[in-house]
Amino acid sequence: METYDFDVVILGGGPAGFSAALYAARGAASTAIIDVSMLGGQPSNYLELENYPGMMKIGGFDLMEKFEEHADLFGVQKFPMQEIESVDLVSTPKVITTKEGIFNAKSVIIATGAKPMKLGVKGELEYIGRGVSYCAVCDGSFYQDKVVAVVGGGNSAVEEAMYLTKFASKVYIIHRRNELRADKIVQDRAFKNNKIEFVWDSVVEEVCGADTVTHLVIKNVKSGEVSDLKTDGVFPYIGMLPNVENINGQIEQDPRGFIITDTTMKTSLDGVYAVGDVRNTPLRQVITAASDGAVGAVYATKYVQALQEVTV
Ligand code: NAP
Repeated sequence: METYDFDVVILGGGPAGFSAALYAARGAASTAIIDVSMLGGQPSNYLELENYPGMMKIGGFDLMEKFEEHADLFGVQKFPMQEIESVDLVSTPKVITTKEGIFNAKSVIIATGAKPMKLGVKGELEYIGRGVSYCAVCDGSFYQDKVVAVVGGGNSAVEEAMYLTKFASKVYIIHRRNELRADKIVQDRAFKNNKIEFVWDSVVEEVCGADTVTHLVIKNVKSGEVSDLKTDGVFPYIGMLPNVENINGQIEQDPRGFIITDTTMKTSLDGVYAVGDVRNTPLRQVITAASDGAVGAVYATKYVQALQEVTV
């Protein structure tokens, strides 16, 4: 097994990770990105972004390709599709062990992002891939002229519901309140879309079907009334949970597991930084992830420099 030594190792190749990589490499730190899957992170699955400054409108995949090309220019080494065996943030140096190599790092930047929250109801896991999906862009085209339901009231739920109207004949948005959390502009577009029907004050109690999903059992939280909602598919978009499986317990985290940082993105451990969706941030956007990455990398490189000065 190969052993590598880097000044800065970044866990996660999404916008936060690539931005961190760019800033670290430009700061003359030897830099690597390690990812458990393909590089690009969550935005790779976004059809379009229209709120990344200067880009007006750009495909998520295309934007992430630009991030990657930019990091390449500064010699960042990339290790996608790594099966992580352990992450030791406490030792000196910090050590990330994957099935393919041992990565020693003076500083680690955690940019592992977040994953969709599950509804936690009967039938949900059973029907994943047979009517339950967490990615409208990946699976929307399977629902041509069919009925689908999206659960949630945030930007993701409403934007993905609108995307699904390109295929589906009808899209329900099931929301537990009677007011959306999504941005006003996003809400306005959804209210104007006549393929979307809102199911207010309601929660999903069960996902039901035969070979594939046929209906949901929903409950009106105000009246207590329980009813069946016929649908061919359901897309839960009820928020995110951090990808912290390999680092749990080593650094300070909030009750949901998001990593707590200071304004320099430093975690409770010296030399360990967290950036983007994995940290407890009030806004999870490509721009905020990229911004976090820049800040974290600048302070990680300062940390590495200080270590070198001590050892000279
Ligand atoms: P979010 O903003 O946290 O919204 C989650 C939604 O799901 C809320 O409406 C919440 O209801 C509902 N919910 C939470 N737990 C639930 C449960 N157990 N059962 C039923 N409903 C539940 O999450 P998000 O939409 O995934 O967005 C995450 C972040 O990414 C946000 O900062 C968002 O602005 C950002 N984002 C931005 C864009 C964009 O600007 N283009 C696109 C996508 C996402 P309540 O409202 O009642 O709490």
